[in-house]
Amino acid sequence: MSEILSELWTPEVQMAVTAVIAFLVVLYVLSIIWVVRDAYLRGTVWFIWAIVALIPILGVIAYTLLRPPLLQIDRDEQELEVALKQRQLMQYGECANCGYPVEADYVLCPNCHQRLKNMCSRCGKALDPSWKVCPYCATQVGSGSRRQAASHSAQQR
Ligand SMILES: [Zn+2]
Ligand SMILES: [Zn+2]
Repeated sequence: MSEILSELWTPEVQMAVTAVIAFLVVLYVLSIIWVVRDAYLRGTVWFIWAIVALIPILGVIAYTLLRPPLLQIDRDEQELEVALKQRQLMQYGECANCGYPVEADYVLCPNCHQRLKNMCSRCGKALDPSWKVCPYCATQVGSGSRRQAASHSAQQR
């Protein structure tokens, strides 16, 4: 029996077995690296998963089954997208009276004709009621529509 074995255990077979073992070791090491990297990117406690990954084959399978579904980068991107949408909404805004969506430079609501902004007496641009001066032409404006009318008449003088 041992004679047959020693006859089979040629240098070629020895090399093949060594190659297979080396291949498995490399695969094992790569699987651990993959788990650690993936767990880190997904924003999990990666060193716990590194310990789990040390269990050959089973560790990797357990990780692929239990890992959080989203990559951290994807999650950040989603948050960014939500923030961007909110900003877009802010830019358009809503009519304080009826809730109709209005753009930032609308002077009045197209739906209920509620006055949203004051108009500059000189250049006619839409101004925020809180502004004291027109940012487009540097004309002084009042804080309310009544004061604006006063400045309008003052300018005509
Ligand atoms: Zn309205
Ligand atoms: Zn102006």
